[in-house]
Amino acid sequence: MSTYDIIVLGSGPGGYVTAIRASQLGFKTAVVEKESLGGVCLNWGCIPTKALLKSAQVFEYLKHAGDYGLSVKEYDKDFDAVVKRSRNVADGMSKGVQFLMKKNKIDVIEGFGKLKAGKKLEVTDKDGKKTEYSAKHIIVATGARSRELPSLPQDGEKVIGYRKAMTLEKQPKKMIVVGSGAIGVEFAYFYNSMGTEVTIVEYMPKIVPVEDDEVSKQLERSFKKSGIKIMTSAEVTSVDTSGDGVKAMVKTKKGEEVLEADIVLSAVGIKTNIENIGLEDVGIATDRDKILVNDYYQTNIPGYYAIGDVTPGPALAHVASAEGILCVEKIAGMHVEALDYGNIPGCTYCTPEIASVGLTEAKAKEQGYDIKVGKFPFSASGKASAGGNKEGFVKVIFDAKYGEWLGCHMIGAGVTDMIAEAVLGRKLETTGHEVLKAVHPHPTMSEAVMEAVAAAYDEVIHI
Ligand SMILES: Cc1cc2nc3c(=O)[nH]c(=O)nc-3n(C[C@H](O)[C@H](O)[C@H](O)COP(=O)(O)OP(=O)(O)OC[C@H]3O[C@@H](n4cnc5c(N)ncnc54)[C@H](O)[C@@H]3O)c2cc1C
Repeated sequence: MSTYDIIVLGSGPGGYVTAIRASQLGFKTAVVEKESLGGVCLNWGCIPTKALLKSAQVFEYLKHAGDYGLSVKEYDKDFDAVVKRSRNVADGMSKGVQFLMKKNKIDVIEGFGKLKAGKKLEVTDKDGKKTEYSAKHIIVATGARSRELPSLPQDGEKVIGYRKAMTLEKQPKKMIVVGSGAIGVEFAYFYNSMGTEVTIVEYMPKIVPVEDDEVSKQLERSFKKSGIKIMTSAEVTSVDTSGDGVKAMVKTKKGEEVLEADIVLSAVGIKTNIENIGLEDVGIATDRDKILVNDYYQTNIPGYYAIGDVTPGPALAHVASAEGILCVEKIAGMHVEALDYGNIPGCTYCTPEIASVGLTEAKAKEQGYDIKVGKFPFSASGKASAGGNKEGFVKVIFDAKYGEWLGCHMIGAGVTDMIAEAVLGRKLETTGHEVLKAVHPHPTMSEAVMEAVAAAYDEVIHI
């Protein structure tokens, strides 16, 4: 039987990053994968969606070439080619992980892994052959898949999840997107830009429900302006797929209404991959669909760990990676600080983009803080004007008493690349005045952060 120091089950951004860090720390490491290296993120999540969104954005630029003094006589989209490009980008990234595994001397074991007692793992390959491995430490990083609602069973044709939504053979004329979290609004933006008639149905009273209220309002305005229909405080109670398309029964405050479309995309969250992986045989505790872990990702059974989407906490690639690194550094005996889940950035890549970290204004008030709020609109930014991207703003929230940077919320072009400033500032426990005194380059979109902070302290220059 092959024996390792560390075996990681699953090779998503949790698993493969964990394996690399483990190898760097001198552990003999293997990673087990049943599908493609890179997991959901590289193959079916973060990366292929961003490739689709880039095509949509370029298409939007072509549509608005006149705004930039340019004339494009003929342009069109090729839906098939857009999808192919996205798949090629994903395949390239997965091959990149293959290279990283080789470079770091990590064994890749192909097949379905199942935990066994005594720190063993059984892997069944595609021909059904079973092989047993043992390790001093086994880290579960099996991730998650699209969640199915009983009222919205996915048939993979007319009622689909995110995987199918990024590989459709034919562009739908009409689409209903159920759920307006990051995945829902990214697909809504993509399909609307490509020319599909899109309706978003959201159960909560606002879209992108976890974001600051002002961000949700701005996105709703932008989406409505671009032709996306939005129904909030609304619920799809049933779907009828018997005819040519789909009829979705939608319950709203005003009553029930039937929406017709070619496709319904269910984007209502995720379901963890915790079935049939031997958790019960080993006695690993779970709660509400997640594997329970402590601050160092140790389960209740010594020698078994879990990280990423399969554990509680935000289901994000950068969180999965950070958890895995921390987990193996702890195994290596390093002094590690528990992850600060209050300082995790969240990004949404539709147009306008959204990026946020920390408390929303409502949450800060709810928690009893006396706050200072500053907001700077991109309409007052030189770089935004030059780029034709005047939509959106940066909003910052500080604790009035001690100057702690409680939250930062951005909506606009390229803001997903700007939020790290707030994450770093908060990590270093900076105050508003320190941000103000850190000279930002001109002209950049990032000046808006400095100006928003200045606005919070009544020192704003450009508004
Ligand atoms: C459409 C979409 C867009 C997204 N966009 C973003 C984004 O922009 N930014 C962001 O931060 N996050 C994004 N996410 C979320 C992100 O993809 C996940 O948080 C991340 O992939 C979780 O990583 P993980 O390693 O925990 O699990 P996963 O990436 O799910 O990887 C788990 C791996 O384990 C394998 N596996 C499972 N069970 C077994 C088994 N028994 N044996 C062997 N292998 C097994 C699976 O095949 C898979 O490869 C997006 C998700 C989706 C669906």
